Amino acid sequence: MDLIKLRINVAGYDELVQLMLSCTKCDLHTTRKRVVPGEGPLNARIMIIGEAPGEKEDEEGRPFVGAAGQLLTKLLSNVGIRREEVYITNIVKCRPPGNRDPEPNEIEACKPYLITQIFMIKPQVIICLGRHSAREILVMAGYPEKSVSNISSIRGKVFNVRLGDLNVKVLPTYHPAAALYNPKLRGVIEDDLRKIRAIINKDKGGGILDYLGS
Ligand code: URA
Ligand code: SF4
Repeated sequence: MDLIKLRINVAGYDELVQLMLSCTKCDLHTTRKRVVPGEGPLNARIMIIGEAPGEKEDEEGRPFVGAAGQLLTKLLSNVGIRREEVYITNIVKCRPPGNRDPEPNEIEACKPYLITQIFMIKPQVIICLGRHSAREILVMAGYPEKSVSNISSIRGKVFNVRLGDLNVKVLPTYHPAAALYNPKLRGVIEDDLRKIRAIINKDKGGGILDYLGS
């Protein structure tokens, strides 16, 4: 897949956000209240990609502001990452009705926004929350779908990938919504998130990125 061709030609981030806010490219635009483009510093070293806005996000137009989002903010803080230093978005920018999974055609329609966000922010690390996010990003990076469909077997692993012309580390972990119902997963997510610090600090220390796949 040629990701660079999917990049939207905009003058800057604000224009990209305006395009998302007025988007009607898939049916989700008919049921959404607000579009949820994403938020965070444009020079963030860490990008977090969830699945889709939920009810609260749909009302507020901001990502991860409901119960799962509050847990995410807490888990990040427990491992020394401030939410404000992270850019957070989702695979699709509008809420699927009743929080159903986004459909493949909706994910495809929304993909150029996500690609353009990734190319603008150029994060060192992308954290994928949950299996849908992990699958989409790793398939974009060239992994066969079957090899990345099981979140339990890929979580906590660091994938050194190339997305278009960007080299980036991808770390899948469980979705915080899953940890709301299964508190045991909170410690697992924290353990996974702790790896981020090490990766980023190592890079800061002048280490050369390796491109060895997983
Ligand atoms: N779950 C997600 O995947 N994203 C949000 O923004 C909120 C809940
Ligand atoms: Fe557009 Fe994405 Fe919303 Fe669909 S989900 S209407 S493609 S912004």
